[in-house]
Amino acid sequence: MEDIIDRMKINEIFLSIQGEGVQTGLPTFFIRTKGCNLRCNYCDTKYAYTKGHDMTLNEIVKEVRKQPYKLVCLTGGEPLIQPIAGSLIEKLVQENYKVCIETNGSINISKFPNNQNVLYSLDIKCPSSSMTDKMYFKNLNYLKKKDQIKFVMRTQKDYEFAKSIVKRYKLSNQTNVLFQPVGGIKARWIVDKVLSDKLNVRIGLQIHKIIWPSSKRGV
Ligand code: SF4
Repeated sequence: MEDIIDRMKINEIFLSIQGEGVQTGLPTFFIRTKGCNLRCNYCDTKYAYTKGHDMTLNEIVKEVRKQPYKLVCLTGGEPLIQPIAGSLIEKLVQENYKVCIETNGSINISKFPNNQNVLYSLDIKCPSSSMTDKMYFKNLNYLKKKDQIKFVMRTQKDYEFAKSIVKRYKLSNQTNVLFQPVGGIKARWIVDKVLSDKLNVRIGLQIHKIIWPSSKRGV
């Protein structure tokens, strides 16, 4: 019998395309874990807070192996609060999967596996999320060119906050920087600001919200 520590709380697993970030458009197998330690004002994944079921590490890996693609995205909720998140990442990398980890910026990522086959997609929560004080800013030292940092923004104040962090930590030299509108689509105002401020960042959309209705699950 497998030990209880070998289990992970899973909200949903599904094959789709990556909807955001530097891997946008690539077929990806998603593992969405249950539970989040934050409560962002604009959260679009509230359904993952409490609903989920237990799966063992072996059961999850079996599901990954059933599909033909080599990209896996570990998302949530917040996947890194799961006790066996590190073991799962390690196992998938051993099996030659490339793993994207979407994490909310509050968890120390230096404690988790990291190599060329692991892409950390780190959020820094802007003021309108009301979660900025929960950020673990030391994470900014651990990001590399292969990784990405995402600022989801709703207001001018959010934009100015993101701009100040990018400049203070010289993030554009270090990693991929994404500015993304809350809701994932309406980015024109961010484009105007970025060009006028001459920032070297990428405007991020959420193409799954263009392809499917924003309420659609499992995409
Ligand atoms: S970190 Fe993500 S899942 Fe958690 S509350 Fe914020 S938006 Fe929702």
